[in-house]
Amino acid sequence: MKNFALIGASGYIAPRHMKAIKDTGNTLVAALDPYDGIGVMDSYFPQASFFTEFERFDRFVDKWRRDSGNKIDYVSICSPNYLHDSHIRFALRSGADAISEKPLVLNPWNIDQLKVIEKETGKKIHNVLQLRLHPTLIALKEKIGAELKNNPDKVYDIDLTYLTSRGKWYFVSWKGDESKSGGIASNIGVHFFDMLSWIFGAVTENIVHIKTADTNAGYLKLKHANVRWFLSVNHDHIPDAVKNKGLSTYRSITVNGEDIEFSGGFTDLHTKSYEAILKGDGFGLDDAYGSITTVSAIRNLDPVGLKGDYHPFCK
Ligand code: NAD
Repeated sequence: MKNFALIGASGYIAPRHMKAIKDTGNTLVAALDPYDGIGVMDSYFPQASFFTEFERFDRFVDKWRRDSGNKIDYVSICSPNYLHDSHIRFALRSGADAISEKPLVLNPWNIDQLKVIEKETGKKIHNVLQLRLHPTLIALKEKIGAELKNNPDKVYDIDLTYLTSRGKWYFVSWKGDESKSGGIASNIGVHFFDMLSWIFGAVTENIVHIKTADTNAGYLKLKHANVRWFLSVNHDHIPDAVKNKGLSTYRSITVNGEDIEFSGGFTDLHTKSYEAILKGDGFGLDDAYGSITTVSAIRNLDPVGLKGDYHPFCK
């Protein structure tokens, strides 16, 4: 049984990590979050020590490290995006592997820095890239891989649309602050960019058409795909047919006009991620490099406006 610590334990995504730790037969010994509304711990690890101050958490983790046979094996990181690299360094310096939420970091040069500390400590950094474990997307990768074997120059046309409406709170929280979340493409798009490159190859061209606080849209040329993408947290973009069903999220990927239906199958992906990591089959720094480079570039590119091949939702 492995011992885990959890940073950012009171937030939205942390219970999926608690569940994954439990589902894989391991235990959570310590958790950190400056916010103490963490009653959800009772459903998973009521015995875990909880800290609202980093310094007290650090003292606890250090003690475990020094009590032989009692060390923290993994630190799971669910804090705001801009803090991940610092929390990862804490994990590795504490003798643990790190399991970080997406986006692993905000910029590719942060990955270069993390490579140094991985080498120094001999500990590993794992990234949750859960779409790579989604059964529909694994099947799509196999299908495209087989087609490319027969036709190595084939290029697909893809439209990616992800609308997930968020209220005013989003722009007051760290998620609406580009310096903390990386902006819309980094915060809600990174999974999709990772998945598309994983299936269709590396990015060769990156154009941004729209970049506002609540909506990003653009065009990516991949080795085997031309992708028009549109990401938004603005409720106004949700199609009426979706709104009329009382839904506030719309996710669609079409490949050469064919819809890839993958709205289900999300519930256990964190547990699957943990199973893979524990087997030595997780995703590391090199796996994250491509999508982090893409979203970092999107953040820094000037939008060109509605020119060229833009997504049909752009207005
Ligand atoms: P959240 O704001 O609900 O939770 C973040 C938590 O971190 C908060 O409880 C906050 O108090 C805490 N925190 C802030 N500063 C901290 C610090 N210095 N030390 C320790 N904790 C600190 O956000 P969330 O939606 O749970 O997102 C957390 C992470 O998970 C983000 O990186 C986000 O991108 C990622 N995420 C991943 C998925 C996914 O599908 N894999 C979904 C949502 C969020």
